[in-house]
Amino acid sequence: MRVVAWPLAFLLLHALLIGLAGDEAESVSLHMLIAAPMMAGLACLWRGWRDGWEGWAALAIAMPLWAGGMAASMVSIVWLSAQGEGGASILLYVLYGVPLIFALASPADEPWPVRLVDGVLAAALGYFFFRYVFTQSTLSGTGDGNIAAIRLLFDLENAYIAAFALIRLLACQDARFRGFLRTLCLYAAAYLLVAFYINHFEWQTAFGSWPDLMIDLPFLMLAVLAIIGGEGQAMMRTGRRFAHVVRAGSPLLLPATLLTVSALLLRQDAGLAVAGCIMATLGYGLRSILVQLRSYDEQDRLERLSHFDGLTGVANRRRFDEMLRRELARMRRQGGALALIMVDIDHFKLLNDHHGHLVGDARLQEVAATLAACARRGGDLVARYGGEEFAVLLPGADAVEAAEVAERMRAAVEGRVLVSPAPDGVVTVSIGLAQAGAGEEAQALVDRADRALYDAKRGGRNRVGVAVIAGA
Ligand code: GH3
Ligand code: MG
Ligand code: MG
Repeated sequence: MRVVAWPLAFLLLHALLIGLAGDEAESVSLHMLIAAPMMAGLACLWRGWRDGWEGWAALAIAMPLWAGGMAASMVSIVWLSAQGEGGASILLYVLYGVPLIFALASPADEPWPVRLVDGVLAAALGYFFFRYVFTQSTLSGTGDGNIAAIRLLFDLENAYIAAFALIRLLACQDARFRGFLRTLCLYAAAYLLVAFYINHFEWQTAFGSWPDLMIDLPFLMLAVLAIIGGEGQAMMRTGRRFAHVVRAGSPLLLPATLLTVSALLLRQDAGLAVAGCIMATLGYGLRSILVQLRSYDEQDRLERLSHFDGLTGVANRRRFDEMLRRELARMRRQGGALALIMVDIDHFKLLNDHHGHLVGDARLQEVAATLAACARRGGDLVARYGGEEFAVLLPGADAVEAAEVAERMRAAVEGRVLVSPAPDGVVTVSIGLAQAGAGEEAQALVDRADRALYDAKRGGRNRVGVAVIAGA
């Protein structure tokens, strides 16, 4: 309740000042109109400091810009006795939207080069706003003929911000950011309505009269919402697809706004308008290239993850199955030999039981590295077949060559002298090998190598079993 009491008190004070200040009403009311956004800005700063700056920083920057616009109005109206706002204040009112558009258009989790491009586009947008405002107005006041043009700019900017805030809110999957977007959405809608009303129906009313109270409203509401904070509920169930479309499409907001301002500038300054169009197109193109590059990198990373075993770093079962099918097909087409070696660590359960799973994992890594070091030919593939079993694919190798590799692997593991509670005192492996028969299916080959491995186990472990030739 208290959080609503002080905005009411602020409004009451403002109303009293307008009612009682007489000749001073204009100046006093302008002070209140500077105070309202400054309070909202401070509330956003506080919320950003507590919850993280994403989004809130933009509001915390926007508010003083708007208050600066009002301060500039005060200087020109009260001190310089000019009629209406000067160009400087209009510019600040327009610039206030730039950080908000940037926050809505540029996802905070993009890498810095992408955000830099967004930042450059936002800065360009600020510059084009500046040029547009100054082609429409002079520092000594804005002529009536140009007011419609400036009004159009305000309406477009405010509508863009409110509409995009709503779209982002509907698509947002992150509860905390949704809290910010809900606040921005309500504030932007209120600001849009108030600005539309004031700019279209009260633009000839001087400051110091009752419509000033309306101008307070969006800022007071923002201050209250920022102080209340909290996470936003999903307004409606929108799917991930919608979220992806909005995420991919939001960055268009910056170049689209830049293109709009360039189009507005076309009649006054065609050269600048064309420059704006080029900048928007190139900026968006560059951004797309950067995002695409990141997506390629991500694809590579996912492909690596999908092909390699996370613990040992050798190929995983999926890759092994793929390569085995591919090599068998190649053998069928081109002939040649192919051998498969299955490796199983001896008494591994004992090792796990005695030393724990972490030591077991470390042993698995050491055995994998040892096997990989023994499979030296280009096409050789060492894979983790599952648990503490490995499979080695040797394209072009016959049973004799494969037996040499298998023996080298067995001796290499034993030679590393990895302490184990197994009867031999060190980690050893049993190996089964099979040479692929002509036209043999993958499963049949694996089964034969497995049986040879079983024979090696039965024969006393730490040895190589060789399967009979397929069909023999
Ligand atoms: P054998 O000599 O007959 O092969 O005996 P063994 O104890 O090695 O028996 P088996 O091959 O059935 O052992 C499999 C054990 O491997 C069981 C399981 O606890 C362990 N294991 C499987 N995957 C992992 C893993 O990722 N990390 C660890 N630390 N242990 C694993
Ligand atoms: Mg096993
Ligand atoms: Mg084992």
